[in-house]
Amino acid sequence: MNAPLPVQVLKQHLIDPEICIRCNTCEETCPVDAITHDSNNYVVDPDICNGCMACVPPCPTGSIDNWRLVLRTDAYSVQDQLGWEELPLEKALPEGADAGAGAQSALADPDAPAPSSAMAAPFSPAGASVPPWSAAHPYVNLYTHKAPMTATVVGNYRVTDADTESDIHHIVLDFGDLPFPVLEGQSIGILPPGTDAQGRPHHARQYSLASPRDGERAGYNNLSLTVKRVTEDHGGAAAHGVCSNYLCDLAKNDTVQVIGPFGHTFLMPNHPRANLIMICTGTGSAPMRAMTERYRRRIDTGENGRLMLFFGARTERELPYFGPLMKLPRDFIDINLALSREAGQPKRYVQDLIRERAAQVRDLLSDRNTCIYVCGLKGMEVGVLDALRDVAMQSGQDWSILHDVLRREGRLHFETY
Ligand code: NAP
Repeated sequence: MNAPLPVQVLKQHLIDPEICIRCNTCEETCPVDAITHDSNNYVVDPDICNGCMACVPPCPTGSIDNWRLVLRTDAYSVQDQLGWEELPLEKALPEGADAGAGAQSALADPDAPAPSSAMAAPFSPAGASVPPWSAAHPYVNLYTHKAPMTATVVGNYRVTDADTESDIHHIVLDFGDLPFPVLEGQSIGILPPGTDAQGRPHHARQYSLASPRDGERAGYNNLSLTVKRVTEDHGGAAAHGVCSNYLCDLAKNDTVQVIGPFGHTFLMPNHPRANLIMICTGTGSAPMRAMTERYRRRIDTGENGRLMLFFGARTERELPYFGPLMKLPRDFIDINLALSREAGQPKRYVQDLIRERAAQVRDLLSDRNTCIYVCGLKGMEVGVLDALRDVAMQSGQDWSILHDVLRREGRLHFETY
């Protein structure tokens, strides 16, 4: 038994600013709103955090899993943390305040065990915080802000029609002889050159891989990204996306600073007959392209399960990879395009098509070999969940039970921004 804990010692939850890629996952996951951010850092409020650990498994980098033993009266404030460029070193506690294994998180029950990253993974609100059982083991954080990898641009071309507003690029990066092992569903960080308004180096921007684990070209040490040039903010006001414009303007043989890889849950199953339902909008198609290509390359094994894709875009001409996608055999992938601004057609979203294809979706949902991936606009999350619930309910299934099973078994994954 651990000795009783000195109440004045706090096991303070902190986020490592050198590893964090500012993806907002932790802030979204925290059930008590203890996590906040400014343009510099994501931080944890010691007055609110109860050490529940809900934010730890979904964090793609592990930067969230940092703890310091401090006297409660000396806890690092939100303001302190917002100014950090790196985590402070652990300070020795005063004599008599040594907490041993048992210092408490701010509001935790004093009788409960101290938080540890080895605790069972809680579930993130909508999706799983564990990968499917047969996922391959991912590498994460091989390259960091302090020690990035230099990649060379070996391809950069537009994958939407030239006369459309959506300027989306397919960018291929090569790693030469240095290792950069990745899996479909993982992401990398790009460090754009230059500094922000405060004169600090830009933070990394995160992009999902659009290529499978064995390379954009099979057997090559390269990968691809799908990047949309950002020219306006979410409200439609003019805005210059620092990293997207940098990437879209890169020329062949330019070099790029890369960190990562990141992500250990949004991973595809590896076992034979695993089915994928892929639901995406716009550039959220990147991981779907990676997974589809993984399946396409092993089509001759006869071990593939079924692929069903719901892909939302404004028009066909603004749908990235439209041409190559439509060339895939119909018996290999069931493609459903939801076009929202196609002239002469009613506005359709991916969730509308999920309902239209209810019989096929239901069939896949009833198979425990099916994993569901959702990637793209944040706004689609609720719509997709509602559509899946409706489909499940039509066949008499209790969605709350099925939803729970899908999360627990790592079979429902969201990556939305
Ligand atoms: P977009 O062109 O703005 O939208 C794509 C489609 O989604 C449009 O048809 C749009 O319809 C529709 N849509 C809008 N709201 C929706 C909703 N509530 N439910 C369902 N569909 C909805 O998309 P985008 O600019 O490419 O953005 C894609 C998102 O993916 C971005 O937020 C990006 O950050 C994220 N993402 C990117 C990557 C990457 O690696 N590049 C990875 C993961 C996620 P309307 O006509 O109504 O606009």
